[in-house]
Amino acid sequence: MRIDVVSIFPEYLAPLELSLIGKARQDGLLQLNVHDLRTFTTDRHRTVDDTPYGGGAGMVMKPEPWAQALAAVAADRPGTSAAKPVLIVPSPAGERFTQATAHELAEEEQLVFACGRYEGIDERVMEWAAEHFTVRPMSLGDYVLNGGEVAVLAMVEAIGRLLPGVVGNPDSLVEESHSDGLLEYPVYTKPSSWRDRDVPAVLLSGNHGKIAQWRRHEQYRRTAERRPDLLAGFDAGALPRADRAAFADLGYDVVDGRLHRRPDAGGGQN
Ligand code: SAM
Repeated sequence: MRIDVVSIFPEYLAPLELSLIGKARQDGLLQLNVHDLRTFTTDRHRTVDDTPYGGGAGMVMKPEPWAQALAAVAADRPGTSAAKPVLIVPSPAGERFTQATAHELAEEEQLVFACGRYEGIDERVMEWAAEHFTVRPMSLGDYVLNGGEVAVLAMVEAIGRLLPGVVGNPDSLVEESHSDGLLEYPVYTKPSSWRDRDVPAVLLSGNHGKIAQWRRHEQYRRTAERRPDLLAGFDAGALPRADRAAFADLGYDVVDGRLHRRPDAGGGQN
């Protein structure tokens, strides 16, 4: 995969030289180029922002440096694919970036990220860019950052670790939080007893069936406690009886393959 990131703070992306993503770059699994938006300005002060039409606080990123930068990236496309590269524009007003989005984007040949600053990028850039890219404004979550760089670090790491060969043991990607719509079960390591706290006995039993069931039930418990919203989309149609019983203990019944919280169940949030 090739990734191009355009930013006025290219140094902000330095952490992508470290750890698994850095190694993936060294190993040629990921080609990542960071471009300084100011290189594409033409004035002496290398200006990238101006006041907003209609008034109001803050500055807006000027369209022309963005068009120049993105045109340069578009002209330097790898491969022969006819598909347009995906242009991800980090924005708190974008669609939510999820694990499902990371899987989807990990299939692309090229991703381009446009890091906004100030009040964001002149909206006409997104319209213009649609001629060359599939444009996807994308939000990390319902809060406001100072710039798109932090969002790009998170998205590139989430996408990059799904590329074949990046994570040493691909099995570790299967049983993670959000891989099956639930949160992951709790994990433990040695020693089995630490500061008067013991590892759950089932994990020392060697009984793989019981361990798998305990882990599933812990996923249900944790998700019901911390993220009950995720349970609305969970397919409970084929759950074995013991798993239905585990959900019943948590206050959920299975109706038409979906989980429904009993109105009389205490404590929960939905
Ligand atoms: N005025 C914009 C709004 O209210 O939608 C917020 C601009 S924010 C201060 C500056 C930049 O930070 C945005 O252009 C975007 O690149 C980035 N940003 C802020 N919050 C983000 C989020 N939740 N997800 C992704 N990017 C975000």
